[in-house]
Amino acid sequence: MSRNEKDPATFRKKILRWYERHARELLWRNSRDPYKIWVSEVMLQQTTVQAVLPYYQEWMKTFPDIESLSRAPSQKVLKTWQGLGYYQRAKNLHKASKIIVDKHQGLIPQDYDELRDLPGFGPYITAAVLSIAFDRPFPVMDANVRRVLMRIMGARGKADAKMDQKLLSFLKPYFPQKKAAVFNQALMELGALVCRPKNPSCLLCPLSDFCQAFKDGNPEVIPRPKKREYRKIDAVVAVVEKNGRLLIQKRPPQGLLADLWEFPGGKRKTGETLEETLQREIMEELQSQVLDPKLLIKVRHAYTQYQVSLYAFQCRLAKDPNLSKNRHRWVTLPGLRDYPFPSGSAKIIKFLEQRAKAKKQI
Ligand code: SF4
Repeated sequence: MSRNEKDPATFRKKILRWYERHARELLWRNSRDPYKIWVSEVMLQQTTVQAVLPYYQEWMKTFPDIESLSRAPSQKVLKTWQGLGYYQRAKNLHKASKIIVDKHQGLIPQDYDELRDLPGFGPYITAAVLSIAFDRPFPVMDANVRRVLMRIMGARGKADAKMDQKLLSFLKPYFPQKKAAVFNQALMELGALVCRPKNPSCLLCPLSDFCQAFKDGNPEVIPRPKKREYRKIDAVVAVVEKNGRLLIQKRPPQGLLADLWEFPGGKRKTGETLEETLQREIMEELQSQVLDPKLLIKVRHAYTQYQVSLYAFQCRLAKDPNLSKNRHRWVTLPGLRDYPFPSGSAKIIKFLEQRAKAKKQI
C-alpha cells in the first residue's frame, strides 16, 4: 500500500491548514449565500478569478438576489454577461432563477436530484453549490482539482470523463464528511496558486509528500495538454448609418450567440474578396446593394472553436432595406450600450465611440 492510501487524515490536515493560511480574499468567499456561490462558480467555469471579478461585481449590483434575476428581461441578463462568452450559461442562470422562484419559494434546493434538474446544473455546478454553500459532502472536479489529483496519482492519461471516475475513487478515502466546503475550495485554490499547469511550486506544496508526479520529477507533463484546434474564419459586417442611427440586427434565438445583436453581414466564402462577401451578404440579408464601402477596422476574436477576423465596412445602402420589426433596429451610437453584442461587435462599437470622441475634439 502506498503512503497516499495510508494517511488520509494527514492529507486533510495539510491541505486544510495550507488553505487557512493562503486562501485569497475573494468577494464570494465572504458569504455562504448560495446564490452568490452559484453565480461565481458559473462565471469561473470559463475564466480566471481576475477576469471574473468586475463581471461578478456588476452582476451582483444589477441582480443582487434570485428574485431580481428572475424578474429581469432576458436582454438585460445577456447585456450584463456581455464579454464573458458562453452566453448559454447566462440564459441558464436566468431560466433556473425563474424555476427556483416559482417552484422552490426562491430558495436554491439542497437536494442533489432537484438541483441537478435545473437548467445549467451539471455535475460540477451541482457539487460546487451543494458543498460550498451547504457543506454537503460532494467532491468537485474542475480543471484545477483534476490537475492536482492527476499529479498526486501520477496518472498520465488524458483529463477526460473516464479519468474523472478514477480521480473520484482515488479521492474517496481523503474526502471529509464534514468541511466539504473548505476541502473542495482548498484543492481548487492549490491548483490555481501552487500546482499550476506550468512551473508548479512543488517545494511550497503541502501535498508534496503524497505526490507521485513530484517524486517522478516532471509534474508538468501531467495532464497531457489538450490540442485546441481553432477554425479560422473571415467575416464582414456593414456599418450602415442613417440620420445618426446605425442598423443592427438580432441573431436567431437558437444556435451560436443566440439572441445577441450584431451588424448585418456574414462569413466569407472561399475565393471571394471581402467586398464581394459584403455585397452578397447584404443582398441576402437586406435585399440591397452596398454603395461606397470603406474598410473601418479589422478585429479578431475567438469563440468556441472559431478564430474570427471580422472586417467592418462603413457603407450606404442603394435602397431602403427590408427590415423586420422584431429583428432590426436603427440605434444611436450611445444607444448601442443597451444591447448585448458578441465581443467582436463590441470591439467595433468601441472603435466607433473612440472615432466619434476624436471627431468632437477636432
Ligand atoms: S507536489 Fe507539485 S505536482 Fe504535486 S500536487 Fe504539489 S504542486 Fe502539484
